[in-house]
Amino acid sequence: MDTSLRTALGDKTARPLAKQLEMETVGDLLRHYPRRYIAHNSVTHSSEREDQRFRPGEHVTLLGKVDGVAGRRMRQRRGHVLEVSVSVGGNHFTCTFFNQPYRERDLQPGTTALFSGDLKRYRNSWQLVAPEFIVLGDGDSGLLPGLIPIYPAKRKLRSWVIMMAVRQVLDLLDDPEDPLPDTLRAAHGLASLGDALRRVHLPDTWDEQEDARRRLVWDEAFALQLAMAGRRASATTRPAPACPRREDGLAAAFDARLPFTLTGAQQRVGESIADALAGEEPLNRLLQGDVGSGKTMVALRAMLQVVDAGRQAVLLAPTEVLAAQHARSLRAMLGPLGRAGELDADTEQATRVTLLTGSLGAKARREALLDAQSGAAGIVVGTHAVIQQSVGFADLGLVVVDEQHRFGVHQRDELRSRPGTTTPHVLVMTATPIPRTVALTMYGDLDTSVLDELPKGRQPIATTAVPAGVKPRWLERAWERVHEEVAAGHQVYVVCPRIGEEGGEPGESWPEPAKDDLLDPEAPTDEFEETLRKLRPPEEEEPEEEARPPLAVTEVGPMLAEGPLAGLRLEILHGRMPTDEKDAVMRAFSDGTVDVLVATTVIEVGVDVPNATMMIIMDADRFGVSQLHQLRGRVGRGSAPSSCLLVTEAVGGSPALERLERLAATPDGFEVSRIDLEVRDEGDVLGAQQSGRRSGLHMLSVLKHGDLVAEARDEARSVVAGDPTLAHHPGLAGLVRSVVGDDEAAFLDRL
Ligand code: ADP
Ligand code: MG
Repeated sequence: MDTSLRTALGDKTARPLAKQLEMETVGDLLRHYPRRYIAHNSVTHSSEREDQRFRPGEHVTLLGKVDGVAGRRMRQRRGHVLEVSVSVGGNHFTCTFFNQPYRERDLQPGTTALFSGDLKRYRNSWQLVAPEFIVLGDGDSGLLPGLIPIYPAKRKLRSWVIMMAVRQVLDLLDDPEDPLPDTLRAAHGLASLGDALRRVHLPDTWDEQEDARRRLVWDEAFALQLAMAGRRASATTRPAPACPRREDGLAAAFDARLPFTLTGAQQRVGESIADALAGEEPLNRLLQGDVGSGKTMVALRAMLQVVDAGRQAVLLAPTEVLAAQHARSLRAMLGPLGRAGELDADTEQATRVTLLTGSLGAKARREALLDAQSGAAGIVVGTHAVIQQSVGFADLGLVVVDEQHRFGVHQRDELRSRPGTTTPHVLVMTATPIPRTVALTMYGDLDTSVLDELPKGRQPIATTAVPAGVKPRWLERAWERVHEEVAAGHQVYVVCPRIGEEGGEPGESWPEPAKDDLLDPEAPTDEFEETLRKLRPPEEEEPEEEARPPLAVTEVGPMLAEGPLAGLRLEILHGRMPTDEKDAVMRAFSDGTVDVLVATTVIEVGVDVPNATMMIIMDADRFGVSQLHQLRGRVGRGSAPSSCLLVTEAVGGSPALERLERLAATPDGFEVSRIDLEVRDEGDVLGAQQSGRRSGLHMLSVLKHGDLVAEARDEARSVVAGDPTLAHHPGLAGLVRSVVGDDEAAFLDRL
C-alpha cells in the first residue's frame, strides 16, 4: 500500500492522479472508493433515481445507449456539429460535439458507452457538450466488472481513468498485507483486505461489494476505537490531582442555598462525579442530558468541589459569546459565593469566576491571566482558543468542556497533555444529547453519564412549524398570540438568524464584526463546514442558489415594533451590541419590563427567564435542528404552558419543512440529534474529527453502522488492555495511523 503510484503505474498514469486527487501511493488510490456503481446490463434501472439530482453545471458520468446521431454544418457559424442522442434510463441526453465529425463512427445507434462531462440545460433538455466517452461494445464488456464503479472524479480525471488505474494496480500487485489477524477476521466474519479491495472496486455483484464494504467499514471503526481505547489508556498514565469533598466548604454552602432540590439524576450523577474527583484516577466523563436537565448545575457543583480542594477549574466554551454567558450564569448561580474580593462576598469561602476571552482589553486580560496564575480565580471561563494558548494555572484540577453543537473536538487533550506530574480531571458536556452509537464513536474514550430526568414542574413546549410562505394567515395568527401571551402577563422571544447590516458599531466585547454575519452570527468560525465541503465528492457539490438573506434582528425588530407588535414593549439583543447595552436589555427582560425580545442566538445559553412562555423562530430552516432544540429550551422553564413556533418559507414536501415538522413532533433531545445527524450527512461528521487533515474515514457512518461500532469497540478495548501501545500488533498500529492520522495516533508513542 505504500508503494508509490509512479513505481506501480508509470509516470504518465500516476501524474494526473497526483495532480487532480493528490494521490501518491497505491494505498491512496485503493482507498479512493467508488461513490456508486452502475450495473451495465440494466441501464434503465440505474439512473431514473439519479435524474432527480441532476443540476446544470454538474460534472457527471453516465451510462447510456445511443439512439440517434445527426451531423450537420452550422448555419450561423462555420463548422460542423454532431448531435448524439443518448438514453439514460428513461431520460434523454444530447451529446454535442463541435468539429469532430469522426466521432460518428464510434457512436452509432445501439452503442452503449460511458459519457463524462458537464451538464447543461438547453431548450428543456439535458446536454453534455463534448463529453469524453468510452464505448462499451460487446467485445469490451468482458473487460468490465459486473458493476461499473463510479468514482468521485474531476473534469481532468475521468471516473473510468481511475477505474483503469485501480484495475492495473490490483492486477499487478500482490495483495496487501492484512492488518487484521486471521483469528479476528474469522471471529467477525470479515473478508481479507485484498478481497475487500478488489470487490469494492470491481465487484461482479451487489453482494460482493456489500461484503467488501463491511470489511472496509470495520477497518475504519476498529481503527477509531483502537485510537479511543489508546487515548483512554494514555489519559490515565498520570494521576489526577485528588479533590476530596469537604463538609464545610463552598460546595456545601452552595448546596445549602439552592432554591430547589436536585433531581434524582443530578444527585446520582453528581455523586459519581464527586467520588471520582476525590481520587487520583483521572475523571474522563461525558455528561449527557437534554436541554434544561441541569448539566451546568452538575458541572458547577463539580467545580466547587475542586475549588474546595484548593485547586482550580476551567470551563471551555466554543465561542466568546458563549463563554461570556457561561461566566455570567455561573456568577448568577453562585451569588455572593462567587464574589471573592468584592464587598458583598460571602465570607472567606467565596471564590472568583474569571472570564478570559480574546476580546478583553489589554489590562483586563492581564488581570485575568494573573487571577488564573495566582490561583485567585477558582473558576476560569474562556474560549478554547485563548485558554490553550496562553494561560498558566496555579493548580488546575478540572477541565469542563462545553461542546455545544460540535461533535468530536479535541481541545480537551491540550490542557490535559501539558507537562507536569498530574493531569486534570475532564468533564465534557454536550449541548443536546447524542445517540449512544455516536457517543461510542466520537467519545469512545470517555465514560458516559446521562441526566435522564428534567427538574420538576418543567412544562412541555408545544412546537409548531409555521409555513409562512404558503399560509401567511398562520403568521398573522402568531403575532396575535404574542399579544395574548403578553396580555396574560408573559414574555416572548423572537429569534432571527442574522444580526443585520445596521447592527451598530461593534462594542467593546466584539472588536471585529462577525466575518460572516449570514447564518448564525454567534456561531464560531468553524472548520467543520469547511471539512464537510472538502470531503464531499466534487460531483455532488450543489450550485449556489440565489436566496434572500436570512431575516435580521435589526430589521425584524423595528418592523414588528411598528407593525404587528405595536404597543408592546420590545427590545433587540445581539452579540454585536456593547456589553453594557446587552446586559441592560437582558436585565430588563429578566425584570419583566420588556415584553418581547427580538434576538439572535445569543439567548441560546445562560438566559433563564421562567416568565417567558413563547418563542417564535424566524427563518427556522436556517438553523440546525439541534440548535433549534437548544433554543426552544429557553421557554418552558416556568409553571405556565409554553410554545415555540418555527416560522419558515420552506414549502410543503421540502426537506427543510419536513425537518422542522419532525423536530416539532418530538420533545426528545436524543431523537433530535438523530434527525440532525441524518441531515448533516454524518458520515462526514466523523471527518470533522480530523480537523481538516486528510481523513482516513471514508465509509463509516455512525448512524448506519452502530452495531458494528459497538462490536469494534469491545474488540479494541480487549486488544488495548493487553497491548496498550500496540507494540505487538504492528499491523494494527499501522491501520490506526492510516485511518486517524499521526496526531490522533500520538498515544502510540506516549505511553
Ligand atoms: P442544561 O445545561 O442541562 O441545559 P442547566 O444546568 O442550564 O441545564 O439548567 C437549566 C435551568 O434549570 C437553570 O436555570 C438551572 O438553575 C435550573 N435547574 C437546574 N437544576 C434544577 C433542579 N433540580 N430543579 C429546578 N431547577 C433546576
Ligand atoms: Mg446549559
